[in-house]
Amino acid sequence: MLLLPTLNDQTLRLLPNAAGAYILHIVVKADVALVQRQFAGKVIKHGTYFYCGSARGPGGLAARVKRHCASDKKPHWHIDTLTIMPVGKVMSVLAVPDGNECDLCCWLREKFLLAVPVPGFGSSDCAVCPAHLLAVPGGALMAVNILNSIKNTASV
Ligand SMILES: [Zn+2]
Repeated sequence: MLLLPTLNDQTLRLLPNAAGAYILHIVVKADVALVQRQFAGKVIKHGTYFYCGSARGPGGLAARVKRHCASDKKPHWHIDTLTIMPVGKVMSVLAVPDGNECDLCCWLREKFLLAVPVPGFGSSDCAVCPAHLLAVPGGALMAVNILNSIKNTASV
């Protein structure tokens, strides 16, 4: 596992090209009214969130996390709605080569009791999780503490 508590050009270079899963720590700076039809009327409040994802394509974790961090991408996934400036920003990442995003998401919900803000958000391809986006009520400090705690636990 690799925890990058801060993200910049230097730290992003440390990410492996291996396939795997990751947790993004995202700060959302203003309330976001979701435009996707399945989420009509739903709002993601400003705050701190975790998003669990997986990268199995070319470039692996490095390519995928870099895309999440880019502020000028064309929206494709649900999560892109929250990671485009000026809406929000990826602050940290925990990369787990060979990991599974559903295991990470389950761990966050069960061990840290994190709640799902919008059912189905980020989990279109998943039949297991209620969502792949979780709210972190304690803000950035809590987010970094949780990522550190997971990194120091070998059982995920
Ligand atoms: Zn899942």
